[in-house]
Amino acid sequence: MSKKYRVGILGATGTVGQRFVQLLENHPQFEITALAASDRSAGKVFAEACAWKLAGTIPEYVREIVVQPIDPPLDCDIVFSSLPSSAAREAEEAFARAGYPVISNSSSYRMDEDVPLLIPEINADHVALIERQKQKRGFSKGFIVTNPNCAVISIAPPLAALHRRFGVEAAVVTTLQAISGAGYPGVASLDIFDNVIPYIAGEEPKVETESQKILGKIGNDGIAVADFALSAQCFRVPVIDGHTASVRVDLREKATLEDVVSAMTSFPSLGLYSSPERFIEVTDEPSRPQPRLDRDNGKGMAITVGRVFPDNIFDYRFVAMSHNTVRGAAGSAILNAELLIDKRII
Ligand code: NAP
Repeated sequence: MSKKYRVGILGATGTVGQRFVQLLENHPQFEITALAASDRSAGKVFAEACAWKLAGTIPEYVREIVVQPIDPPLDCDIVFSSLPSSAAREAEEAFARAGYPVISNSSSYRMDEDVPLLIPEINADHVALIERQKQKRGFSKGFIVTNPNCAVISIAPPLAALHRRFGVEAAVVTTLQAISGAGYPGVASLDIFDNVIPYIAGEEPKVETESQKILGKIGNDGIAVADFALSAQCFRVPVIDGHTASVRVDLREKATLEDVVSAMTSFPSLGLYSSPERFIEVTDEPSRPQPRLDRDNGKGMAITVGRVFPDNIFDYRFVAMSHNTVRGAAGSAILNAELLIDKRII
């Protein structure tokens, strides 16, 4: 068997960090050799530092690893980061400068023009930015790549499928986002039970800009962002995991309902270890997708789309859903690392 890459996780004790620990157990290409978090956790063994919130108990293989501060060096070849953006900007740059590939969930570098914002099925060619980034920032071996905001991962894939085939002219998006998207402890139970909150700090601009970068074309001058208009409203709802988005879209070319569905279902998945069999699953069940029933499709890595219909005002409408801490965070970062290995960039 080929060698396993040794990975370190920044923010290992958090909501996304725990998902990394869960998804990396028995991964054929990676083994966790370092865990890092805040001063509150550093110096403790993981089992003591981490309030485990996923099903089951803390996996044996990480229980006794001593949590480190988020400064290089760490005993690993690759760094996954799930730090809050306030801490991520400095720490991720420090690791990249120290020679580590940094694969980040945080928003700090997503929109920087020399940083790939990757969904491997859609824009794997954007990894070409890495060389430009190294030159511009004076990194010798290290670099930063990012994955999108957890709500963007529900909408960018179906929009990419439509944009490639028919051109997207404009889209209006309303997201219904799970509580775990806010990290732990997140939104107070007295605020979210029996309630819907029409505000998630900083979220709407991310949803409005990240898809255009992901669907953009890379050329000699960097990425030319996709030129469709997108308007988003983001709501926090009392769901634990799984972000839903209602999307209405205008297309540049005429398309039948069958064309629209086939553009989505035929969008290829990749043959990487964490790739789902189908990247976009389209259901015609009238009451789906639902977070509780569909978030684990493709082991949490598939995007599920339903309610695809012609619209009275726009051309089409549909509902898209995905698992925010798997496809929306740790699972996407792991898929990015698998892609970088496949392309021999790591
Ligand atoms: P979280 O549950 O609050 O976890 C934060 C982690 O970062 C913990 O390990 C915490 O360590 C550590 N940390 C916090 N402040 C720190 C500091 N100043 N220095 C060093 N370590 C610090 O948050 P999360 O939901 O996992 O989110 C982490 C990142 O992923 C954020 O940037 C978020 O926007 C992004 N993200 C989250 C989701 C999601 O669905 N939750 C999806 C996509 C992206 P301690 O335990 O020691 O405090």
